[in-house]
Amino acid sequence: MFYAEPVGRLIDELRKLPGIGLKTAQRLAFHVLSMPAEEVRKLSDALVDAKEKIRRCCVCGNFTDVDPCRLCADASRDRSTICVVERPEDVIAMERTREFRGVYHVLGGAISPMEGIGPGDIRLGELLDRVRSGDIVEVIIATDPNIEGEATAIYTSKLLKSLDVRVTRIAHGLPVGGDLEYADEVTLARALEGRHRI
Ligand SMILES: [Zn+2]
Repeated sequence: MFYAEPVGRLIDELRKLPGIGLKTAQRLAFHVLSMPAEEVRKLSDALVDAKEKIRRCCVCGNFTDVDPCRLCADASRDRSTICVVERPEDVIAMERTREFRGVYHVLGGAISPMEGIGPGDIRLGELLDRVRSGDIVEVIIATDPNIEGEATAIYTSKLLKSLDVRVTRIAHGLPVGGDLEYADEVTLARALEGRHRI
């Protein structure tokens, strides 16, 4: 009721974004109003463009503008080693360490009974298909070091048990309860190096 209708609508949309409360949404909305029209157009074009051009890689499930993605298509990567992560942001975090030369599998979440997310809601079937059909030597599970991430790691290792593949979990030393994407490169590289069989 304090805002002109278009401003109120903008604030409502901004508030739907993660980590944006009412105050931040209001600050961003007023900032947008003070920007040159051309800059606002660039921002809105970038939003629409990213959404329209980016899809999930048919192999790993990562966000990509080409399918399969550049990482899956890169012949210099070791395709016998798959690193399983929850989100596309985690691929970026792992790549920043420069320690991992294999390929990825993005689950698109973690098993969370509290949030009603079961094994069938994340890309575990696709992982199973990949391991069954390819020459995979090792699957490194790099889900988050929290309850959901651990549950997902255990479930995944059981799922792969009957297959002829080594299943490892990245070491702790990552902040417990944290997100993989927020771990610094050194911590993450150490966690990768210290992975153990599960
Ligand atoms: Zn891919």
